[in-house]
Amino acid sequence: MYTTIEKVYHDNGDHGRPLKYDLHMHSSVSDGVLDPAALVERVAAAGIDVMALTDHDTTDGIEAAMRAGFEHGVRVIAGAEVSVNWQGGLLHILALGVDIGEPTLQQGLAAQRVCREERAIAMSERLAATGIDGCLEGARSFASGASIGRSHFAADLVERGFAKDRAAAFRKFLRPGKPGYVSCQWASLEEAVAWIKAAGGRAVIAHPARYRMTTAKMGRLCEEFKALGGEGIEVVSGTHTPHDNAMAAGMALRFGLLASQGSDFHDPAQTWLGFGGLPALPAHLTPVWHDWNTGAAGRKLRVGRTG
Ligand code: AMP
Ligand code: MN
Ligand code: MN
Ligand code: MN
Repeated sequence: MYTTIEKVYHDNGDHGRPLKYDLHMHSSVSDGVLDPAALVERVAAAGIDVMALTDHDTTDGIEAAMRAGFEHGVRVIAGAEVSVNWQGGLLHILALGVDIGEPTLQQGLAAQRVCREERAIAMSERLAATGIDGCLEGARSFASGASIGRSHFAADLVERGFAKDRAAAFRKFLRPGKPGYVSCQWASLEEAVAWIKAAGGRAVIAHPARYRMTTAKMGRLCEEFKALGGEGIEVVSGTHTPHDNAMAAGMALRFGLLASQGSDFHDPAQTWLGFGGLPALPAHLTPVWHDWNTGAAGRKLRVGRTG
């Protein structure tokens, strides 16, 4: 049995103003620096009404975030950012509004985290071959039990003076073709969408402009994604330029995808737009949250087991 938190939240109209949404952010459960409760506290202070916690390949922070959401009056949408291999490149697919108790999704994400562990070992071996020892231990200490990723390696490389900041660590060691880069057998697009749908969630293409695809390739991605049951695209991202947002808006319109927005917050010190600083979604698009407060989606937000 789960308790639901539907009753403590209000419909759009009750606020007397449009709600503020930020549907993409990370906690220390993956590569963010704030733990879920501290993250939610900041989100509340920034005046965000509805947030999605979308850690890389894990929903482990959701229950803590929901509890904090209760306390601070923030509606927390259960999410994740799923790593995907598509046509030889890496994509990120956001899962929004999932049932975190649903086994297909959890088995899929667990397999992704096994890949992360195996990749971490291989990355450390490659870095050792270039003369930098102890990277696995270093990255693990930054991850402290989180879903381990390249950002944890970057943090360790910076701390030990091998790079001046995280961006430099990615540039020198962690990007494709660099000595610490190891590819990973992530989910296919089809698998990721199927897991998300099995868990009753909406699949959304994250930060589309970051993949540096041609317009034709982005069109093929949207078409295939939509045919698989994908529903949305991140139109406004904290990591996009205004031009990128316009490109994504064009894709949403052309392929009938719902529009999402999110900061991709990781760190209070990040250089891209944090919460509250996002431009509004273009008015002609349908927001991914258009039916969230109506009950039409039939999903309850689950905060925790009561018995
Ligand atoms: P992973 O999923 O472990 O391969 O790591 C991807 C994550 O690394 C992204 O979600 C970002 O948080 C981070 N990242 C990727 N590229 C860069 C970069 N150039 N500078 C800083 N962080 C980056
Ligand atoms: Mn990240
Ligand atoms: Mn991403
Ligand atoms: Mn992200």
